[in-house]
Amino acid sequence: MSQQENKKVIKVGVIGAGGRMGRMLIEATQDNPKTTLSAAIERQGSSLVGADAGEVAAIGRLEIQIVDDLKAVISDIDVLIDFSLPAATEQNMQVCAEHNVAMVIGTTGFNEQQEQVLATASEQIAIVYAGNYSTGVNLSLKLLGLAAKAFGKDADVEIIEAHHKHKIDAPSGTAYMMAEAVAEARGQNLKDVAVYGREGQTGEREAGTIGIHAIRGGEIIGDHTVMFIADGEVVEITHRARARMTFAAGAVRAATWIVQQPIGQYNMQDVLGLND
Ligand code: NAP
Repeated sequence: MSQQENKKVIKVGVIGAGGRMGRMLIEATQDNPKTTLSAAIERQGSSLVGADAGEVAAIGRLEIQIVDDLKAVISDIDVLIDFSLPAATEQNMQVCAEHNVAMVIGTTGFNEQQEQVLATASEQIAIVYAGNYSTGVNLSLKLLGLAAKAFGKDADVEIIEAHHKHKIDAPSGTAYMMAEAVAEARGQNLKDVAVYGREGQTGEREAGTIGIHAIRGGEIIGDHTVMFIADGEVVEITHRARARMTFAAGAVRAATWIVQQPIGQYNMQDVLGLND
Protein backbone atom coordinates (compact mmCIF):
# COMPACT_ATOMS: atom_id res chain seq x y z
CA MET A 1 0.00 0.00 0.00
CA SER A 2 1.33 3.46 -0.90
CA GLN A 3 1.85 6.15 1.74
CA GLN A 4 -0.94 8.11 0.11
CA GLU A 5 -3.41 5.24 0.60
CA ASN A 6 -2.21 4.73 4.17
CA LYS A 7 -3.19 8.30 4.99
CA LYS A 8 -6.67 7.95 3.47
CA VAL A 9 -9.32 9.07 5.92
CA ILE A 10 -11.90 6.37 6.56
CA LYS A 11 -15.51 7.46 6.11
CA VAL A 12 -17.62 6.20 8.99
CA GLY A 13 -21.42 6.04 9.19
CA VAL A 14 -23.09 5.85 12.61
CA ILE A 15 -26.42 4.11 13.17
CA GLY A 16 -28.51 5.15 16.17
CA ALA A 17 -26.82 8.56 16.05
CA GLY A 18 -28.95 10.01 18.86
CA GLY A 19 -28.47 7.09 21.25
CA ARG A 20 -26.22 6.97 24.32
CA MET A 21 -23.54 5.17 22.30
CA GLY A 22 -24.33 6.90 19.00
CA ARG A 23 -23.48 10.34 20.41
CA MET A 24 -20.19 8.99 21.79
CA LEU A 25 -19.40 7.33 18.46
CA ILE A 26 -19.88 10.61 16.59
CA GLU A 27 -17.36 12.26 18.94
CA ALA A 28 -14.96 9.30 18.65
CA THR A 29 -14.92 9.54 14.83
CA GLN A 30 -13.69 13.14 15.27
CA ASP A 31 -11.08 12.21 17.90
CA ASN A 32 -9.49 9.47 15.77
CA PRO A 33 -7.16 11.01 13.15
CA LYS A 34 -7.81 8.14 10.73
CA THR A 35 -11.59 8.61 10.55
CA THR A 36 -14.24 11.12 9.66
CA LEU A 37 -18.00 11.03 10.14
CA SER A 38 -19.65 10.76 6.72
CA ALA A 39 -23.23 9.83 7.69
CA ALA A 40 -25.46 9.63 10.75
CA ILE A 41 -28.66 7.60 10.72
CA GLU A 42 -31.61 7.40 13.10
CA ARG A 43 -34.87 5.45 13.00
CA GLN A 44 -37.76 6.63 10.84
CA GLY A 45 -39.89 9.13 12.71
CA SER A 46 -37.10 10.18 15.07
CA SER A 47 -37.30 13.85 16.08
CA LEU A 48 -33.53 14.06 15.41
CA VAL A 49 -33.86 13.55 11.64
CA GLY A 50 -32.55 16.71 9.94
CA ALA A 51 -30.52 17.80 12.99
CA ASP A 52 -26.76 18.29 12.72
CA ALA A 53 -24.95 15.17 14.04
CA GLY A 54 -22.24 17.24 15.74
CA GLU A 55 -24.79 19.35 17.58
CA VAL A 56 -26.68 16.23 18.72
CA ALA A 57 -23.37 14.88 20.06
CA ALA A 58 -22.70 18.27 21.72
CA ILE A 59 -19.35 18.74 19.93
CA GLY A 60 -20.30 21.60 17.57
CA ARG A 61 -21.60 21.58 14.01
CA LEU A 62 -20.20 18.94 11.64
CA GLU A 63 -22.46 19.76 8.68
CA ILE A 64 -23.68 16.15 8.62
CA GLN A 65 -27.47 15.97 8.76
CA ILE A 66 -29.04 13.00 10.50
CA VAL A 67 -31.09 10.96 8.00
CA ASP A 68 -33.54 8.08 8.46
CA ASP A 69 -32.58 5.93 5.45
CA LEU A 70 -29.27 4.07 5.38
CA LYS A 71 -29.62 3.30 1.67
CA ALA A 72 -29.68 7.03 0.86
CA VAL A 73 -26.17 7.54 2.32
CA ILE A 74 -24.55 4.11 1.95
CA SER A 75 -22.40 5.20 -1.01
CA ASP A 76 -20.67 7.75 1.31
CA ILE A 77 -19.67 5.10 3.88
CA ASP A 78 -16.53 2.91 4.11
CA VAL A 79 -17.55 1.35 7.47
CA LEU A 80 -20.89 1.42 9.26
CA ILE A 81 -20.81 1.37 13.07
CA ASP A 82 -24.07 0.06 14.51
CA PHE A 83 -24.95 0.22 18.20
CA SER A 84 -28.76 0.22 18.03
CA LEU A 85 -31.40 -2.51 18.33
CA PRO A 86 -31.19 -6.13 17.10
CA ALA A 87 -34.08 -5.69 14.62
CA ALA A 88 -32.48 -2.56 13.16
CA THR A 89 -29.02 -4.13 12.97
CA GLU A 90 -30.51 -7.15 11.20
CA GLN A 91 -31.76 -4.92 8.36
CA ASN A 92 -28.54 -2.89 8.28
CA MET A 93 -26.44 -6.04 7.86
CA GLN A 94 -28.44 -6.90 4.76
CA VAL A 95 -28.04 -3.40 3.29
CA CYS A 96 -24.27 -3.39 3.97
CA ALA A 97 -23.87 -6.89 2.47
CA GLU A 98 -25.70 -5.73 -0.69
CA HIS A 99 -23.45 -2.66 -1.01
CA ASN A 100 -20.11 -4.22 0.10
CA VAL A 101 -19.73 -1.94 3.11
CA ALA A 102 -17.79 -3.24 6.15
CA MET A 103 -19.41 -3.12 9.59
CA VAL A 104 -18.57 -2.75 13.27
CA ILE A 105 -21.49 -4.06 15.30
CA GLY A 106 -21.96 -3.41 19.02
CA THR A 107 -25.69 -4.15 19.32
CA THR A 108 -26.35 -6.90 21.86
CA GLY A 109 -29.27 -9.27 22.42
CA PHE A 110 -29.40 -10.97 19.00
CA ASN A 111 -31.79 -13.93 18.70
CA GLU A 112 -30.88 -17.07 16.73
CA GLN A 113 -32.31 -15.73 13.48
CA GLN A 114 -30.30 -12.52 13.82
CA GLU A 115 -27.17 -14.58 14.55
CA GLN A 116 -27.90 -16.39 11.29
CA VAL A 117 -28.23 -13.13 9.34
CA LEU A 118 -24.86 -12.11 10.84
CA ALA A 119 -23.28 -15.39 9.72
CA THR A 120 -24.65 -14.95 6.19
CA ALA A 121 -23.55 -11.29 5.97
CA SER A 122 -20.07 -12.30 7.21
CA GLU A 123 -19.71 -14.42 4.06
CA GLN A 124 -20.20 -11.28 1.94
CA ILE A 125 -18.48 -8.47 3.87
CA ALA A 126 -15.96 -7.97 6.70
CA ILE A 127 -17.66 -7.51 10.09
CA VAL A 128 -16.37 -6.93 13.61
CA TYR A 129 -19.00 -8.12 16.08
CA ALA A 130 -18.26 -7.76 19.78
CA GLY A 131 -20.37 -7.56 22.90
CA ASN A 132 -17.73 -5.22 24.31
CA TYR A 133 -15.23 -2.92 22.57
CA SER A 134 -13.11 -1.97 25.59
CA THR A 135 -9.47 -3.05 25.78
CA GLY A 136 -9.88 -3.96 29.47
CA VAL A 137 -12.76 -6.37 28.92
CA ASN A 138 -10.99 -8.10 26.05
CA LEU A 139 -7.89 -8.47 28.21
CA SER A 140 -10.12 -9.81 31.02
CA LEU A 141 -11.43 -12.48 28.63
CA LYS A 142 -7.86 -13.72 28.17
CA LEU A 143 -7.30 -13.75 31.95
CA LEU A 144 -10.57 -15.65 32.46
CA GLY A 145 -9.47 -18.38 30.07
CA LEU A 146 -6.21 -18.68 32.02
CA ALA A 147 -7.98 -18.84 35.39
CA ALA A 148 -10.56 -21.34 34.13
CA LYS A 149 -7.80 -23.63 32.82
CA ALA A 150 -5.84 -23.38 36.09
CA PHE A 151 -8.84 -24.15 38.32
CA GLY A 152 -10.54 -26.59 35.97
CA LYS A 153 -13.91 -27.67 37.33
CA ASP A 154 -12.60 -27.46 40.93
CA ALA A 155 -13.85 -23.88 41.20
CA ASP A 156 -17.49 -22.82 41.12
CA VAL A 157 -17.82 -19.91 38.69
CA GLU A 158 -20.37 -17.14 39.24
CA ILE A 159 -20.68 -14.04 37.04
CA ILE A 160 -22.34 -10.86 38.28
CA GLU A 161 -22.99 -7.95 35.95
CA ALA A 162 -24.49 -4.53 36.71
CA HIS A 163 -25.85 -1.99 34.23
CA HIS A 164 -27.97 1.17 34.09
CA LYS A 165 -31.75 0.97 34.44
CA HIS A 166 -32.35 1.74 30.73
CA LYS A 167 -30.72 -1.47 29.45
CA ILE A 168 -33.33 -3.68 27.75
CA ASP A 169 -31.54 -7.05 27.55
CA ALA A 170 -30.06 -9.35 30.17
CA PRO A 171 -27.60 -10.75 30.87
CA SER A 172 -25.24 -8.37 29.09
CA GLY A 173 -23.41 -9.36 25.92
CA THR A 174 -20.19 -9.02 27.93
CA ALA A 175 -21.42 -11.43 30.61
CA TYR A 176 -22.13 -13.96 27.84
CA MET A 177 -18.65 -13.45 26.41
CA MET A 178 -17.11 -13.98 29.85
CA ALA A 179 -19.18 -17.11 30.44
CA GLU A 180 -18.20 -18.41 26.98
CA ALA A 181 -14.51 -17.78 27.74
CA VAL A 182 -14.76 -19.86 30.94
CA ALA A 183 -16.85 -22.63 29.33
CA GLU A 184 -14.56 -22.88 26.32
CA ALA A 185 -11.42 -23.09 28.48
CA ARG A 186 -13.08 -25.91 30.47
CA GLY A 187 -14.21 -27.77 27.34
CA GLN A 188 -17.90 -27.12 28.04
CA ASN A 189 -20.83 -25.94 25.96
CA LEU A 190 -22.23 -22.84 27.69
CA LYS A 191 -25.83 -23.79 26.81
CA ASP A 192 -25.42 -27.00 28.90
CA VAL A 193 -23.93 -25.38 32.00
CA ALA A 194 -25.35 -21.84 32.31
CA VAL A 195 -27.67 -21.12 35.27
CA TYR A 196 -29.43 -17.74 35.06
CA GLY A 197 -30.35 -16.32 38.47
CA ARG A 198 -31.73 -18.53 41.21
CA GLU A 199 -35.08 -18.67 42.96
CA GLY A 200 -37.01 -21.04 45.17
CA GLN A 201 -36.03 -24.67 45.93
CA THR A 202 -32.99 -24.78 43.68
CA GLY A 203 -31.30 -27.76 45.32
CA GLU A 204 -27.55 -27.85 45.82
CA ARG A 205 -25.30 -26.14 43.32
CA GLU A 206 -24.40 -28.54 40.52
CA ALA A 207 -20.64 -28.87 39.96
CA GLY A 208 -19.39 -27.44 36.68
CA THR A 209 -22.25 -25.00 36.21
CA ILE A 210 -21.71 -21.26 35.57
CA GLY A 211 -24.06 -18.92 37.43
CA ILE A 212 -24.96 -15.64 35.68
CA HIS A 213 -26.72 -12.77 37.45
CA ALA A 214 -27.86 -9.34 36.26
CA ILE A 215 -28.26 -6.21 38.39
CA ARG A 216 -30.02 -3.14 36.92
CA GLY A 217 -30.09 0.35 38.37
CA GLY A 218 -29.20 4.00 38.13
CA GLU A 219 -26.67 4.99 35.50
CA ILE A 220 -24.06 2.22 35.95
CA ILE A 221 -22.20 2.07 32.62
CA GLY A 222 -21.15 -1.58 32.94
CA ASP A 223 -19.54 -3.62 35.76
CA HIS A 224 -18.62 -7.31 35.51
CA THR A 225 -17.17 -9.62 38.15
CA VAL A 226 -16.31 -13.27 37.62
CA MET A 227 -15.76 -15.27 40.83
CA PHE A 228 -13.78 -18.50 40.89
CA ILE A 229 -14.84 -20.03 44.19
CA ALA A 230 -12.55 -22.89 45.15
CA ASP A 231 -12.10 -24.76 48.44
CA GLY A 232 -10.13 -22.39 50.66
CA GLU A 233 -9.74 -19.48 48.22
CA VAL A 234 -11.65 -17.16 45.91
CA VAL A 235 -10.31 -15.33 42.87
CA GLU A 236 -12.33 -12.42 41.45
CA ILE A 237 -11.68 -10.79 38.11
CA THR A 238 -13.51 -7.46 37.86
CA HIS A 239 -13.86 -4.92 35.10
CA ARG A 240 -15.63 -1.59 35.60
CA ALA A 241 -16.35 0.71 32.67
CA ARG A 242 -15.97 4.33 33.79
CA ALA A 243 -17.03 6.06 30.56
CA ARG A 244 -18.94 5.08 27.42
CA MET A 245 -16.15 6.67 25.40
CA THR A 246 -14.03 3.58 26.09
CA PHE A 247 -16.47 1.49 23.96
CA ALA A 248 -16.84 4.19 21.31
CA ALA A 249 -13.08 4.72 20.88
CA GLY A 250 -12.63 0.93 20.67
CA ALA A 251 -15.33 0.64 18.02
CA VAL A 252 -13.75 3.41 15.92
CA ARG A 253 -10.36 1.68 16.28
CA ALA A 254 -12.10 -1.51 15.05
CA ALA A 255 -13.45 0.48 12.08
CA THR A 256 -9.92 1.53 11.05
CA TRP A 257 -8.81 -2.12 11.30
CA ILE A 258 -11.73 -3.82 9.54
CA VAL A 259 -11.32 -1.86 6.29
CA GLN A 260 -8.00 -3.68 5.80
CA GLN A 261 -9.39 -7.19 6.41
CA PRO A 262 -10.74 -9.82 4.04
CA ILE A 263 -14.41 -10.84 4.16
CA GLY A 264 -15.28 -12.66 7.39
CA GLN A 265 -16.41 -12.24 10.99
CA TYR A 266 -13.97 -10.90 13.58
CA ASN A 267 -14.11 -9.87 17.24
CA MET A 268 -12.35 -7.20 19.31
CA GLN A 269 -9.65 -9.63 20.37
CA ASP A 270 -8.72 -9.95 16.69
CA VAL A 271 -8.59 -6.15 16.43
CA LEU A 272 -6.31 -5.90 19.48
CA GLY A 273 -4.05 -8.73 18.27
CA LEU A 274 -4.87 -10.84 21.36
CA ASN A 275 -5.56 -13.88 19.18
CA ASP A 276 -2.16 -13.78 17.41
P1 NAP B 1 -29.88 3.70 23.08
O1 NAP B 1 -29.45 4.92 23.82
O2 NAP B 1 -31.30 3.23 23.21
O3 NAP B 1 -29.51 3.94 21.54
C1 NAP B 1 -30.03 3.19 20.47
C2 NAP B 1 -30.29 4.17 19.35
O4 NAP B 1 -30.66 3.45 18.15
C3 NAP B 1 -31.45 5.12 19.69
O5 NAP B 1 -31.09 6.44 19.34
C4 NAP B 1 -32.58 4.60 18.80
O6 NAP B 1 -33.50 5.60 18.45
C5 NAP B 1 -31.79 4.14 17.58
N1 NAP B 1 -32.53 3.27 16.68
C6 NAP B 1 -33.54 2.41 16.97
N2 NAP B 1 -33.99 1.82 15.84
C7 NAP B 1 -33.26 2.33 14.82
C8 NAP B 1 -33.26 2.14 13.40
N3 NAP B 1 -34.12 1.29 12.82
N4 NAP B 1 -32.37 2.82 12.65
C9 NAP B 1 -31.51 3.69 13.22
N5 NAP B 1 -31.47 3.94 14.57
C10 NAP B 1 -32.32 3.25 15.35
O7 NAP B 1 -28.97 2.46 23.49
P2 NAP B 1 -27.40 2.43 23.83
O8 NAP B 1 -27.20 2.43 25.30
O9 NAP B 1 -26.68 3.42 22.98
O10 NAP B 1 -27.05 0.94 23.35
C11 NAP B 1 -27.28 0.52 22.00
C12 NAP B 1 -26.83 -0.94 21.86
O11 NAP B 1 -25.40 -1.02 22.04
C13 NAP B 1 -27.44 -1.89 22.89
O12 NAP B 1 -27.69 -3.14 22.25
C14 NAP B 1 -26.33 -2.04 23.93
O13 NAP B 1 -26.40 -3.24 24.65
C15 NAP B 1 -25.12 -2.00 23.02
N6 NAP B 1 -23.85 -1.63 23.67
C16 NAP B 1 -22.76 -2.33 23.28
C17 NAP B 1 -21.51 -2.00 23.78
C18 NAP B 1 -20.31 -2.75 23.26
O14 NAP B 1 -19.16 -2.42 23.64
N7 NAP B 1 -20.51 -3.75 22.38
C19 NAP B 1 -21.37 -0.95 24.69
C20 NAP B 1 -22.51 -0.23 25.07
C21 NAP B 1 -23.75 -0.56 24.55
P3 NAP B 1 -34.80 5.87 19.40
O15 NAP B 1 -34.30 6.08 20.78
O16 NAP B 1 -35.41 7.08 18.79
O17 NAP B 1 -35.65 4.63 19.29
